[in-house]
Amino acid sequence: RSRRENQSAVHHYASNLDIDYYRRYRLEQDLHYAIERKQLFLEYQPKVDSWTGKIIGLEALIRWQHPEWGRIPPNDFIPLAEESALHIAIGDWVVETACQAMLDWSSAGADLVPVSVNVSPKRFLIPGFEHQIEQILAAYHLPAELLELEITEAALIMDDPNISRTLEHVSRLGVRIALDDFGKGYSSMVYLQRYPIDVVKIDRQFATHIAEDTKAQAIIKSILYMAKEFNLAVIAEGIETIQQLETFRALECPNIQGYLFSRPVSAAVMESFLIREVLYPIEACSLASDNI
Ligand code: C2E
Ligand code: MG
Ligand code: MG
Ligand code: MG
Repeated sequence: RSRRENQSAVHHYASNLDIDYYRRYRLEQDLHYAIERKQLFLEYQPKVDSWTGKIIGLEALIRWQHPEWGRIPPNDFIPLAEESALHIAIGDWVVETACQAMLDWSSAGADLVPVSVNVSPKRFLIPGFEHQIEQILAAYHLPAELLELEITEAALIMDDPNISRTLEHVSRLGVRIALDDFGKGYSSMVYLQRYPIDVVKIDRQFATHIAEDTKAQAIIKSILYMAKEFNLAVIAEGIETIQQLETFRALECPNIQGYLFSRPVSAAVMESFLIREVLYPIEACSLASDNI
């Protein structure tokens, strides 16, 4: 650490704020050109059967390769996009890119599984969203069942009749709706009853200490019980270790997603995964080779 850095702590702090402000401003400006300059791309993370490792679905996750700052995580730029109409163009680009990837995987000989995309809560308020989805599916000749929309409670908490109408409409098309990050916020069970939800995604925070935390286990049990009653699919997010996987198996959580099976990967790597169909826990592989 330089002496200068220690001496000018106050000034340093102020200039950090300036940098943050500048960076934010620049990101917002640059984001307008990100699509046309081909700086955005998708990665895909598999969702697997907890017991067999069979790939049962994928989640598409957006990335931005900024020419100066490198990779910008979605949590840093999606909120900026949501401040303007930009999130609409980006959202459409995500759905179309995921649909194109499905066609490519299919031509390569892979059996397709449903792909989910994350949708900004605000998007459900824009009239015509359901038609946009319908048109994209038609243009790519894909059945609606292969597309899943992940929404967070932030969308449902607005309690806007336009949101429920839009959800009902896309749901009637056959598109599946997943409630993302369940357990993170209010997690009202009422949402599961009031909206056409098909899938509950248990928030990553539960996975973190699940093996030791009996209270977290009790919450997972009750979510699973409720999901069964409501006829919902359940998937646990953020599984990183064998211990976590085994705990979710013991709780009879049918599906999981997380670094243990795979980090989000490029469309090309996903193609090889889809052709293989089954994944193995990465940790188990490294443990196995340690034993040799
Ligand atoms: P999310 O939808 O809950 O996505 C899961 C996030 O957890 C992803 O981060 C994923 O890379 C990460 N993850 C998956 N498995 C593990 C694990 O085992 N351990 C840990 N520590 N993390 C794991 P990512 O890609 O940075 O995305 C963050 C959030 O950004 C997403 O959370 C989603 O809310 C938002 N997002 C991503 N792509 C899009 C998009 O295309 N549109 C919109 N509107 N939001 C997006
Ligand atoms: Mg998600
Ligand atoms: Mg999530
Ligand atoms: Mg999230």
